Amino acid sequence: MTDGPTYGFDTLQIHAGARPDPATGARQTPIYQTTAYVFRDADHAAALFNLQEVGFIYSRLTNPTVAVLQERLATLEGGVGAVCCSSGHAAQIMALFPLMGPGKNIIASTRLYGGTVTQFSQTIKRFGWSCKFVDFDDLDAVRAAVDDDTRAIFGEAIANPGGYIMDVRAVADIADKAGVPLIIDNTSATPYLCRPIEHGATLVVHSMTKYLTGNGTVTGGCVIDSGKFDWSANDKFPSLSQPEPAYHGLKFHETFGALAFTFHGIAIGLRDLGMTLNPQAAHYTLMGIETLSLRMERHVANAGKIASWLEQDDRIEAVTYAGLASSPYADRVAKVCPKGAGALFTIAVKGGYEACVKLVESLEIFSHVANLGDTRSLVIHSASTTHRQLSEEQQVAAGAGPNVVRISIGTEDADDLIADLDQALSKAVG
Ligand SMILES: *Cc1c(COP(=O)(O)O)cnc(C)c1O
Repeated sequence: MTDGPTYGFDTLQIHAGARPDPATGARQTPIYQTTAYVFRDADHAAALFNLQEVGFIYSRLTNPTVAVLQERLATLEGGVGAVCCSSGHAAQIMALFPLMGPGKNIIASTRLYGGTVTQFSQTIKRFGWSCKFVDFDDLDAVRAAVDDDTRAIFGEAIANPGGYIMDVRAVADIADKAGVPLIIDNTSATPYLCRPIEHGATLVVHSMTKYLTGNGTVTGGCVIDSGKFDWSANDKFPSLSQPEPAYHGLKFHETFGALAFTFHGIAIGLRDLGMTLNPQAAHYTLMGIETLSLRMERHVANAGKIASWLEQDDRIEAVTYAGLASSPYADRVAKVCPKGAGALFTIAVKGGYEACVKLVESLEIFSHVANLGDTRSLVIHSASTTHRQLSEEQQVAAGAGPNVVRISIGTEDADDLIADLDQALSKAVG
């Protein structure tokens, strides 16, 4: 089908990027479980390697099943292109790689997924990159943190795990003024609830491991490019605007225009970093995305009901769900994610660390796992697991203090989930 703005989200999540298989007529996208593709002749091979013709060479770079997923993601996010890769964390490196170099820095929100805090505060230093963490509600502090070596600003639309909603537009305006791209991790929101490009984001990254696949079967990630950033407006992004030595002097922006970032991601990022998504995983994610809006509606409805129930319970000190009227971010929901504040929030439990541990061990329907965005309801005590490597100060800043339990509400019956929480809280807090 032709993807037009005339089609709604429910139609695009099923059809965008897919067409009946030209060889067999197969209606569902086949899993092209192949490493390589036969060249028609030597000229064809040369044209593909020169990026003069778009086609398939080797599945570390491109694969037809993965290509359908890339087109679908770009369409749903309102971008021009997407590159899939092996995990959400891989996607973050893939997004930063063309922008960064030794001595360059990124400005990131303090409210981020714990693994991202570790990646940005520790691991990227090995590349000579650094990160300054700033409270994104303090716009003056964001502005002040930007310096001549800043190459990107990074935040999460709905932050994992704190129930924080970012004012994407306000930070995008700062990025625009500074001449650097804004990268939004849209994992917790999904394009059904929030489309960051419409709020001024340049790049969107996802852990497809979560809601996009939706059932805890796949590890995957993607980077979607809005196609709107002018990489040649200043001299900050030589890998895109200048002759790229890693691709015999090709000038990506001049040659590919709005698709420069996407082509760079495939031709250099996947080629040389090798963080490739396999076609089997792409298939599972395509299956998941077909029902994304239906699942997100139920996730959001369940989260609202359960967060309200928890909020009035004496055993709970606080509920951070931005979908509650009491949330300091309630007004941002209408602006940033009007279809709902997602299904991920934290609760502060009376009785602190010990009560939290007892709670997660007493739940029966909820699984105690290091994952979120599953049809199954999941729970984790971040301070003893995902946020364990952070200092207590960092834990609190990330909304994951010792008395905090993160809850990912699934699509089961809300009443069953409430009953399960009730019995487990009785055991944990009494
Ligand atoms: C899980 C997650 C990641 C990391 O993704 P992986 O697929 O586990 O590598 C990044 N950001 C957010 C918000 C996440 O929830």
